[in-house]
Parts: sequence; C-alpha cells; structure tokens
Amino acid sequence: MVDDRRNVELNPLFARVGEATSFPRNRIPEAEALPETAYQVIHDEAMLDGNARMNLATFVGTWMDDYADRLYREAFDKNMVDKDEYPATADIEDRCWRMIAALWNAPDPDNTAGTSTVGSSEACMMGGLALKRRWQHRRRAEGAPTDRPNLVMSSAVQVCWEKFCNFFEVEPRYVPISEDHRVLDGHDLASYVDENTIGVVAILGVTYTGMYEPVKDISAALDRIQDDTGLDVRIHVDAASGGMVAPFLQPDLEWDFRLPRVASINVSGHKYGLVYPGIGWIVWREAGDLPDDLVTRVSYLGGDMPTFGLNFSRPGAQVLLQYYLFLQLGMEGYRRVQQNTIDVARYLAGEIGALPDLELWNAAQDIPVFAWRLTSDPDRRWTLYDLSDRLRMKGWIVPAYPMPDDLTEVTVQRIVVRNGMSHDLASFLVRDLRACVDHLNRADGGPPDDRRAGFHH
Ligand SMILES: *Cc1c(COP(=O)(O)O)cnc(C)c1O
Repeated sequence: MVDDRRNVELNPLFARVGEATSFPRNRIPEAEALPETAYQVIHDEAMLDGNARMNLATFVGTWMDDYADRLYREAFDKNMVDKDEYPATADIEDRCWRMIAALWNAPDPDNTAGTSTVGSSEACMMGGLALKRRWQHRRRAEGAPTDRPNLVMSSAVQVCWEKFCNFFEVEPRYVPISEDHRVLDGHDLASYVDENTIGVVAILGVTYTGMYEPVKDISAALDRIQDDTGLDVRIHVDAASGGMVAPFLQPDLEWDFRLPRVASINVSGHKYGLVYPGIGWIVWREAGDLPDDLVTRVSYLGGDMPTFGLNFSRPGAQVLLQYYLFLQLGMEGYRRVQQNTIDVARYLAGEIGALPDLELWNAAQDIPVFAWRLTSDPDRRWTLYDLSDRLRMKGWIVPAYPMPDDLTEVTVQRIVVRNGMSHDLASFLVRDLRACVDHLNRADGGPPDDRRAGFHH
C-alpha cells in the first residue's frame, strides 16, 4: 500500500516548546521526544480502533475485571520461556493444563502432556505435528514411505489448518460441506482416508457458523474404516471456542477424551476461556501421544527444560490470568457466565430469525454463535453486505461472508456473542437491525452487490 501521508502530526495542544510536532511515519525519528509527547501521539491514534463491545465479529475476549488487570500489571514482564527464573508461573501453567485435561476427561490428567501457547493457531500446529510425527514413526517401522502425508478435515476449517498444511508440507484433504451435510459428520469419510492420513480434524465450534461437528459420529465412522481396512486414524479436536463451552453447557455431549480415538484437543484461553488475547492450550490424551522427539530440551536458561511450543519468548501473564479465572469462577461461575452468554445469543437468534427477510442457518444451539442468510426473493435489491454496511453506520460490526468452497454461493452473516453483551445491549442491536432492514427494503437500491470478501476469523 502506498502511504503518501509521510508524517504523524502532534495535536498542537500537546506540543511543548522546542519539541518536534511531527514524526516521520515509517522511519525511526532522529531526535528524542518526551515520554508524554510520544504517549499522546499513540493514545490519540489508538482511539481510532473500533469499540470492542460492538464488535460482534471476533471471538476474542476484550474485558477482564479489576483484579485481573492488577495481576496483569504485576506480571507483564514475565517471560513464559524463563521457567527457571519464574518457577511459580511455570508451575501454575502446569496446574492450568491439568485442570483443562480433567475438564476434558483425560484418563490420567496429572500424568499426560500439555502446554500453554499464544493461541489456538500455535496449539493446532503442535497437534498436527504430533499426528504427523506419530504417523512417520509407524510408517518407518513398517518400512513404508513417508513422503505423502495428508490430513482430512472440513472445508470450513479455520485458516490455521491451511497454514499447518502449507508450512509442514501435508496435503490438506477437505471434505466439502453442503446443505445436507452442514458440518463434517463422518459421511463418506472412507473416500478421503488412506494409509497416508496422519489424522482427522474435528471442529468443536466451526468458525463460520459456531456449529459443533459430531465428534462421536466422526469417531464411529473411523471405527468402521478400521474394521474394513485396518487403518487406525486418530482425531485432533480443534475446540478453539467449544472447549470452554461444551464442558459447562453440554456436559453430556461426548466429544472429548471420553472417545478413545481423540488424541489431542486445543482451546483458545482468550475466547470462551475469558482471558485477554495471547493464550491457548493443548492437551494430549496420554503422555505417549506427544512423540518424545518433538520435545526439545534447553539448558541455557538454567535447569534442563523440556519445551514444545513454536515460540521461544512469549508473555507469561496470560497464564496467571487463566489461573485467576479458574480459581475465581470455578466450575459454577463458568457455567453461569456461559449460560448467560448463550441465553443472549438465543434471544438474538430468535428475534433475527423472526424477520421475514432473514433465515437462520443455525440458532446458537452449540456455542453462543449463529449465522443467517437471506430468504430467496428475486425482487430484493439488497444483500447481506449492504446490511453489514448499514449496521456499521450504527457502530455494530456484523460481518457478511461467503461460505467455504462448494457452498460459496451462500452468503451468511454471523454474530459472535461474548461475555459483556448484555440483554440490554442485544435489544438495541435488534432495534437497529430492524431499522436497517426496513431502510434497505424502502430504499431504491442499486443492483445487488456481489462482493466476495475474504474471511479469516
Ligand atoms: C479462532 C480459531 C482458531 C485460531 O485461534 P487463535 O486463538 O485465534 O489462534 C482456530 N480454530 C478455530 C475453530 C477457531 O475458532
């Protein structure tokens, strides 16, 4: 992008005698500035960022209470990799992933393998790598080639899985979703799985719609494949959002380590784990499911530390914040918070689904996320992209986007309800949304706009 605004200007109100009032945009300035001047420039600019509470596009938490903020301030200098320097933080990290392993019904939560990460993306890379390495070990032991690994997953996977396949040279095998099979459900799985399949990804909370994939059905389909072919294919569950929802709202749903085929599970602590951005978790079913040769031992920070993330240095504060919430909310508190969030989502889905122009794709039955599309009406002169634009004029960010490959002709619009979206705020959204639809129906409108926006959340 060409940026011809070469300088960043300081509001004259804050200029101090003898100081620069203008800073080069893309170069480190030659001279020093007073801290308050530099602060003011950045403070003013960051104000342009949107209002997080009205952003219904993101899954990521944007609010924590005062005690969490206090802990954050006390801990923002901690480096997660310095386990020798910060042994207490390292110990708390272990407690957290063991709590999560128990939450997901691991057979022996205290003696399995797990770690924090910067988010689900890094956790998914680790989950995928473990599947790949285990497959390689098995193939080598059989004297079979290991040059063409593939990973089977829905075409509606989050972009991190495309990255995994690209970075680590694994062929992605996308099972298309359709009107009849709205999520990966095990249907026709046998035609995608072969001896080069390192694993199947199941998603607990598909990014496009919030729907759960029926992990139990996928597992049963893999049982049948094993009976027919002898192939033993494991599952990684990408539970970025659902991993901190299902245990509280759908405790009887069997999607986790209760299914023996599930080898590993990830979650984003910064989504329904309710922590500020920068934290994810991954847990393996049993210690042996994380191949030993993926664990690196480092000695140069003191001690002999096993590490198995992609990053070296990263912030440690979010780990303490996750622990704070586990202690403070407990099972009961998480249940209460998630129930309230899904109640708001279901209220919104009910109101939006009742509008004659809109038809729900799903109704927030799984995580507090739902999507809708337009009913078919050849006379309608507007699209969901227009509705998204109009809502933005009122401050709401509600994205519209095409569904993935094989269903790209379907445009949906999605709302992610997070903690902090009150019933009150939701009723304002319904009022604004109705007004926007009325406006579009009254307006003359141009020809329907057929934009195809990229979708990367
Ligand atoms: C958000 C999300 C990711 C990526 O998680 P980050 O924590 O943002 O890295 C991966 N998979 C799914 C299903 C997601 O919803």
